[in-house]
Amino acid sequence: VTPTTTPTSLRFTPQRRAIYDVLCESEDHPTAGDILERVQRRVPGIGAATVYRTLAWLVQSGQAAELRLGEADATRYDRSVHRHDHLVCVQCGQVEDVHVPLDHKLLDELAGPTSFQPSGYDVQIHGRCARCAAANAHNVGGIA
Ligand SMILES: [Zn+2]
Ligand SMILES: [Zn+2]
Repeated sequence: VTPTTTPTSLRFTPQRRAIYDVLCESEDHPTAGDILERVQRRVPGIGAATVYRTLAWLVQSGQAAELRLGEADATRYDRSVHRHDHLVCVQCGQVEDVHVPLDHKLLDELAGPTSFQPSGYDVQIHGRCARCAAANAHNVGGIA
């Protein structure tokens, strides 16, 4: 008996699993290009189209999130789909997860004058990461 092929649209194939594993191990919110490079080290010969399709599938099925930092930046991928915010280093581009509890009164204050009804929020805090801040201090002779 020839084994019947089961629909793969909702299943993890070995390739999809490898892509998901790479994303889960990445704390740095990689771009699709970063993920492709990392997956290729593990699964030689895996195609870019497969990686891009799988990332779209992971986002659609709620297993990963997209992160857009700005129009000029490539879409990043986030292994965490739970609500959280981001610290974005303007110097090296590092993106770190952070949880910023926003006072609900702030949202109410916003809703008042604008008649806008907020349902959620996304915060990106721009600045310098610890490493860049330390490097800057070092460059100006701040560290003996
Ligand atoms: Zn930095
Ligand atoms: Zn994140």
